[in-house]
Amino acid sequence: MDPALSQRLSRVTGDIADAARAAHRDPASITTVVVTKFHPASLVRDLHTLGVRDFGESRHQEAQPKVEELRDLEATWHFVGQVQSKKAQQIAVYSHIIHSVDRESLVDALGTNDRGVFIQVNLTDDHERGGVHPDALPTLVERVAGTSLRLLGLMAVAPLDSEPRRAFARLRELSALATAIIPGAGALSMGMSGDFRDAILEGATHLRIGTAITGNRLREG
Ligand SMILES: *Cc1c(COP(=O)(O)O)cnc(C)c1O
Repeated sequence: MDPALSQRLSRVTGDIADAARAAHRDPASITTVVVTKFHPASLVRDLHTLGVRDFGESRHQEAQPKVEELRDLEATWHFVGQVQSKKAQQIAVYSHIIHSVDRESLVDALGTNDRGVFIQVNLTDDHERGGVHPDALPTLVERVAGTSLRLLGLMAVAPLDSEPRRAFARLRELSALATAIIPGAGALSMGMSGDFRDAILEGATHLRIGTAITGNRLREG
């Protein structure tokens, strides 16, 4: 195993604990999902040996065979990428938690599955980006409430062109709209390699961290 992997993991784990303490939060209340997209199954095994149990993937065609190859590992798989409605059922087979539910047609496609989900909110002005517009959030929460899915909370990616902390504060505020309809749905999936400290300060419960732990991705699509 590459010793640099264990060094990066300890450094990030330490930084998360420091940020949690700075925010007067218990580090144990924060789940770190290590995003392993574009990395081989062997890296996931190495991380598992180092104690990681939550893994994230973002592309179905890559994730499906990888999870299959790793099915002997005790792990929780998180799907964090855009979900095509026609692939939704297949993704639900191997993903325990889906972070990127963002439209009614997808809720309908997934609805019979007993899965934890996050609703992804688009905090940019670009309608092409993944995520539901904040105005449409309550309707989408209602839709999830009528299915077998368990809404855990909200997810967002901070826009590139603004302060991440303000975006995370906005997601935290929007969370009240979800918990007003589904009281247990207060989790917040936010914070990546470059901005997880800000996310922790604003209440993140699930960080999605790739490169800061895995190192650079070999190929990017
Ligand atoms: C790739 C990815 C991440 C991790 O990004 P890093 O910057 O490598 O930490 C987090 N969330 C989503 C949705 C991703 O696609």
